[in-house]
Amino acid sequence: MKYLELKNDKIKSIELFDIRIPLVHPFTTSFGTETVKTGVLVRIEDSQGYVGWGESSVMADPGYSPETTETVWYILTEFLIPLFKTQIKMGKTNIPEMLGEWEKIRGHEFAKAGLESSLWALLSEQLGVSLGEIYGATKERIPTGVSIGIQKSLDELISRIEMFLSQGYKRIKIKIRPGWDVVPVQKIREEFGDILLMVDANSAYSLSEQHLEALKKLDDYNLMMIEQPLRHDDILAHCKLQKILNTPICLDESIHSVEQADLSLEMGCCKIINIKPGRVGGYYNSFLIASHNSGKVWLGGMLESGIGRMHNIFIQAREEFKIPGDTSGSDRYFKKDIIEPPVTVDETGYIEVPRSPGLGIEVLEDVIKQHSLKHEKIIF
Ligand SMILES: [Mg+2]
Repeated sequence: MKYLELKNDKIKSIELFDIRIPLVHPFTTSFGTETVKTGVLVRIEDSQGYVGWGESSVMADPGYSPETTETVWYILTEFLIPLFKTQIKMGKTNIPEMLGEWEKIRGHEFAKAGLESSLWALLSEQLGVSLGEIYGATKERIPTGVSIGIQKSLDELISRIEMFLSQGYKRIKIKIRPGWDVVPVQKIREEFGDILLMVDANSAYSLSEQHLEALKKLDDYNLMMIEQPLRHDDILAHCKLQKILNTPICLDESIHSVEQADLSLEMGCCKIINIKPGRVGGYYNSFLIASHNSGKVWLGGMLESGIGRMHNIFIQAREEFKIPGDTSGSDRYFKKDIIEPPVTVDETGYIEVPRSPGLGIEVLEDVIKQHSLKHEKIIF
C-alpha cells in the first residue's frame, strides 16, 4: 500500500450508526439463523467536508465472534475514538502508525476495523483517488462465489445452487453440520459435476470417531477446502486433522491477527486462510496477511452492507487473492442496499471494480437512517 498518510488531519466529526437491515433470505449456519444484517457504520468527516465511510460488520450476538454490535459501540465510543482524538490532536497522520498504537486496546478487532476502514475511505476522498488505489487493487474485476446456508431439504439446496450457477457465480460454498455433510455434497457432485465446491462447518465438528469418519468421507469429493471444521480456538486440533485429510483446511474463526495467520499456515494447521477484515482488525492487517501468504488467501463475508462490500471488493482486487471470495451481489441479501448503484454480479460471475474516487458509489444516508437502531455524532 503506497498512500498511508491522511492529507488533512483536521477532523470535524465521527458518526456511528447501529444498523439493522432485513435480509431477503434467512441465512442458516451451524450456529443459528440470521434474518437481519447487523453492524456499526462509521462516518468520518474532515474540515474540508470530505467524508469516509467504514463498516464494522459485527453480529448482534457473540455466536461467530466474541464481539457484538453493543461491544463494538462501547469500545468505539469509550476507548478507540477517544484514543484516535488524542492522536489527531498530536498531529499524527500515518494510519499504520496510529493502528499500531491501537494495540493498547487488546482484541476488539471488529471495532477497530470499523474506524480503520473509515480512515482509508477518507484518505481516498482527500486524495481524489479510488479506494482501490489506496488498497493496491490491480484487477479490473473480481470473480465471485456464493455462500449457501443450511437448507430445509436436499431439493431446496439443489434448486438454490442451480439458480446461483445460472446467475454466473464461480464457486459454491455450502454450510455443513453433523448430519448435513456427506449426503448433500454427494448429491451436488451428482447434479453439477466438477463445479468449484467447498464446505464451511463453522466449528461444528470435533475429532471424535463419528465426526472424523464424516470428515474423511468428504475427502472423496474433490472439495476446494473444508472451512473451520473444529473448535474456534483449537489450532492444534486443526494441525492434527490436516495431517489426516488431503482436502485443504481453511481457517476462519481461529484467525484474529497477522501472527495467527502466519503461524497456522507455517505450522501446517491449514493450507488456506479466509480473511475477514473485521475479524483480523481491518484492511491493513488483511493486506499484511495477503502479502505474506499470496495465493493462500481469499476474502470471506459477514453479510456486509454495501459499504463494507465495496471495501471488500477493493482489497480482494489485489493480486494475492487468487481464490474467488464470498462477495456476492447486493440483491442476494437486501431488497434495497444502502449504496447506489448496488453491487451486481455479471452473467459470467464477475464484479466490476469501480475506478472513480472514493468508494466509487453513492452512500444513501436516508436509507441508513431508516435502518438505524441508534445514531451518535461525536464532534472533534
Ligand atoms: Mg466461515
